[in-house]
Amino acid sequence: MLTSIEDYIKAGRIAAEVREHMRKRYHVGRTLLEICEEAEGMIRAKGGEPAFPCNVSLNEVAAHYTAEPNESIEVRDGDMLKIDIGVHINGSIADTAVTVCYNPSYSILVEAAEHALNEAIRVARIGVKASDIGKVIEHTIKSYRLKPIQNLSGHSIARYTIHAGRSIPNIWTIDSFSLQQGEVYAIEPFVTTEDGSGVVYNGDVSNIYSIVSRKRTGSKEADAFLDMLWDRFKTLPFALRWLSDVDTNYAREMISFLMKKKVIRAYPVLVEGNNRYVAQAEHTIMLTMDGTTIITRV
Ligand code: MN
Ligand code: MN
Repeated sequence: MLTSIEDYIKAGRIAAEVREHMRKRYHVGRTLLEICEEAEGMIRAKGGEPAFPCNVSLNEVAAHYTAEPNESIEVRDGDMLKIDIGVHINGSIADTAVTVCYNPSYSILVEAAEHALNEAIRVARIGVKASDIGKVIEHTIKSYRLKPIQNLSGHSIARYTIHAGRSIPNIWTIDSFSLQQGEVYAIEPFVTTEDGSGVVYNGDVSNIYSIVSRKRTGSKEADAFLDMLWDRFKTLPFALRWLSDVDTNYAREMISFLMKKKVIRAYPVLVEGNNRYVAQAEHTIMLTMDGTTIITRV
């Protein structure tokens, strides 16, 4: 257990350093590919492993977009970009995000997301109900006359598992549970404008995948591909970019077959219901007897 705590602390420190680097950098004119590669390269250089492909979600896309191997989309003036970073050390995961905004009239969304995150962390401790954290997040965001995204939430984290089953809502909810000692949670408020729908839906694109089963598919070739993916990523999400040693078309074909066999799942991009801008802030916390440790604080 002690080593696992140390791994979380180390993963958190790396994630925080990369996030702060990304916050300070001027991204206009850069491609999403350059941004992902810089973030993931920094994680590795600091001795961590990416826990999932760096998410680079623009404007009305709230989450789950990562760069394609040949990505040419650039950040433009006026954009709002969520950079969501995951780091793991031996399966102990830190999950954190920052929003950079190149449109001054939307900076308030970023401010509200960060403020809501800070307020949520302030109340998060052993014994507190997840619904009460949701209430604080909702209240803080609404005090800006903005809207929380109600169907996105924070989540418990376990070894090699980013979403370990429990959710920290971004609004008050009726069903709830209390935070317990030793648990690790990501808290992540998402904010949209007052005329946003406050709900995200699955978009057409999905380019982040994970293995859900190792059951045999009936094709030796596909089974071998699945085993190769398992060796590299286990249960953690991955992207086509991370298979640079495999022919891209072949990898696409294999992944699509494995998805049909339901042994791989894809995470569709999540798009704001009224196509309004979305901002996000995220930290990972650990609940200890001594209090709440924000492992992704610098
Ligand atoms: Mn995240
Ligand atoms: Mn998260």
